[in-house]
Amino acid sequence: MLYNSTRGNDKGRSSAYVIKNGIAADGGLFVPESIPSLTKELLEELKGMNYPQRAEKILSMFLTDYSTEELKKATETAYSKERFGKVTAPIAVSGGNSILELWHGPTSAFKDMALQIMPHLLSLSLDKCGEEKDALILVATSGDTGKAALAGYANVPRVRIQVFYPSEGVSPVQKLQMATQEGNNVSVCGIKGNFDDAQSAVKRIFGGNASEKIAENGLFFSSANSINWGRLAPQIVYYISAYLDMVSAGTIAMGDKINVTVPTGNFGNILAAYIAKQMGLPVNKMICASNKNNILTDFFNTGVYDKRRPFYTTSSPSMDILISSNLERLLYFVLGAEKCAELMKELNEKGIYTVDEATKAKLSEDFAALYGDESATEETVARYFEGGYLCDPHTAVALYCADKYKAESGDNTPMLVASTASPYKFPRAVLKSLGKNVDGDDFTCIDTLSEISNTCPPKALAELKGKPVRFDGVTEKADIDTKVYDFAAKKL
Ligand SMILES: *Cc1c(COP(=O)(O)O)cnc(C)c1O
Repeated sequence: MLYNSTRGNDKGRSSAYVIKNGIAADGGLFVPESIPSLTKELLEELKGMNYPQRAEKILSMFLTDYSTEELKKATETAYSKERFGKVTAPIAVSGGNSILELWHGPTSAFKDMALQIMPHLLSLSLDKCGEEKDALILVATSGDTGKAALAGYANVPRVRIQVFYPSEGVSPVQKLQMATQEGNNVSVCGIKGNFDDAQSAVKRIFGGNASEKIAENGLFFSSANSINWGRLAPQIVYYISAYLDMVSAGTIAMGDKINVTVPTGNFGNILAAYIAKQMGLPVNKMICASNKNNILTDFFNTGVYDKRRPFYTTSSPSMDILISSNLERLLYFVLGAEKCAELMKELNEKGIYTVDEATKAKLSEDFAALYGDESATEETVARYFEGGYLCDPHTAVALYCADKYKAESGDNTPMLVASTASPYKFPRAVLKSLGKNVDGDDFTCIDTLSEISNTCPPKALAELKGKPVRFDGVTEKADIDTKVYDFAAKKL
């Protein structure tokens, strides 16, 4: 299996190459040249397997230059019981929806599903590509991605990772999650500034002559972005796996169609569902759920993608986004490389592009798009809690959109809803939705949430309070470069 750029000018790359390099030379994203197919026999075979085995089998169809043994070891390590508990991605049933909980990994957010395995794939890709230098991953984070990346890359051979976060821009729990990270190949640094400052600094360092400097330490820069195919491929697995679990649970019969609702930000998660459908998974509609930042709702319903609009900060921060990078891959699949490159150029230059009526109609065969604002989110958290299910604000947006889609369309195909974070990651917002007291720090909120819901917080979050802080530095923006050089020069 080879990979091509969505913009048409970088072709025929191996999977190891695309994982090592992340972005294509022409600025596009890598996509597989063909989509492998899920036959009935294969679905039956996968049904008898556990999650790591399913992951190994499905990934082997995309990552053809990784050996069976390599994929077996990577999937067994990444999705072990120690890291994800007994069931990697369990399905809860509430309000007539099957809710796929993707947050049972080490950092309680769905990004673990990809970031627990991608580091192994990157580490292996270095040898496969004959890369002599080791990778230094720089991450600018507003919270969740930083911790998930740290947890995934800690102690992975031939890779080191350095995370920058806005020291006043993340929650106390998020800060502590990062500051207590173990592993000798990790570095965490608060910066005086906001997320944009952190991100601009990292981009500046990637673009400048720092690469030459760290090459002297035997390192090259790499990133853990969600545009990397190594993050996308593992996400295809859980849609196929969830379908088979719904068959085993008797919710559907093998071959029946399902609908899938995904709380969407960068469009990576829902694109993985789309690829699963292209492979032949019986999926009818994918419902793209957005919060008040409803640029994707507008795009699917009008054909116009217009980022020249206000940016809102919401209670579902991982969906607060104006440029959904992975949408580029969908445009490529539907329109081809030439048109895709043209639209991306328009977005870059004018901040807006429009697809024609025929394209819009084609997209609506596969997708519906809805959004829920802040009050819809709060009401949904409360409504599902009354029905016995506690969910986080991102999942609430998805549940709201799933229910609204059913009511408006009359389409009663069994619904799978992706749940992307533990409610304990957002204890304050959840308590507020339930009309409860939110005085005190986040740990107090976690305790209150546990009491009123009669559930236990994830172990890693509960144990956070007693963990030794390893990284408490806060740096001026201007000193970030020095931090990078110091870490690059450090002997591990
Ligand atoms: C990252 C994230 C999302 C958005 O996923 P995309 O793949 O970027 O669309 C949704 N919910 C949570 C909790 C996340 O962390």
